[in-house]
Amino acid sequence: MLLQAENLVYHYKNKGQTVKAVDGVSLNLAGGRFYALTGKSGSGKSTLLSLLAGLEIPQKGQIRIEGAALAPRDFTLYRRHTASVIFQAYNLFPQMTALENVLYPLLLGKRPRQEAESIACEMLERVELTPQHRSRLPRQLSGGEQQRVAIARSLAAGTKLILADEPTGNLDEGVSAQVMVLLGSLSRQEGRCVLMVTHDLSLAREADQVFHMESGKLKEAQP
Ligand code: ADP
Repeated sequence: MLLQAENLVYHYKNKGQTVKAVDGVSLNLAGGRFYALTGKSGSGKSTLLSLLAGLEIPQKGQIRIEGAALAPRDFTLYRRHTASVIFQAYNLFPQMTALENVLYPLLLGKRPRQEAESIACEMLERVELTPQHRSRLPRQLSGGEQQRVAIARSLAAGTKLILADEPTGNLDEGVSAQVMVLLGSLSRQEGRCVLMVTHDLSLAREADQVFHMESGKLKEAQP
């Protein structure tokens, strides 16, 4: 098993009130599988994703990666090497071209420039962006193209786990479906584990397994 989460808890304190955003969640994620996480707004999906991404430390419970417990001191390396996040707002660097955005994690990982460039170009091709797109800034690309750059960047990072928070939230229906098919095929062909948060049940149907969240708890896990 790539990731095992055991009894994760994360509560927010808000003006004396406790919000049980994640309230005892256990789940297993395997490589090569595509998962969807659904649930109403406020059910705790983003908070759970932040825990799985190593962006927040669970107040209780633990995460195991390939059997080894993940300690807070390992979080920086975990985010660099194991788990990458694709956000709804893409989070591309606005002053960098598509190619430079994808190069970024590779250069951060100390890859030699030439090797990094060839990997970045390959990843952009894989998400069906042409050489003409490479030199454009994010604002010169459509929403769907920007999202594909964000996916290529997360692929270039080479992480086993890709966590996507409403990755198609800003895209129209046809483009959303394309991004979903892309995420699904990446997980299956590349052996990556993709977990995608979505409130759209029709998109969730593309996944191998669907987790449903309600008031901080995972209610069911049906295909
Ligand atoms: P979802 O992603 O399903 O919309 P969230 O994980 O964003 O759910 O939120 C779960 C609950 O936690 C909600 O009730 C939300 O208002 C609350 N919450 C989220 N972030 C914070 C925060 N930073 N401070 C206080 N409460 C928060």
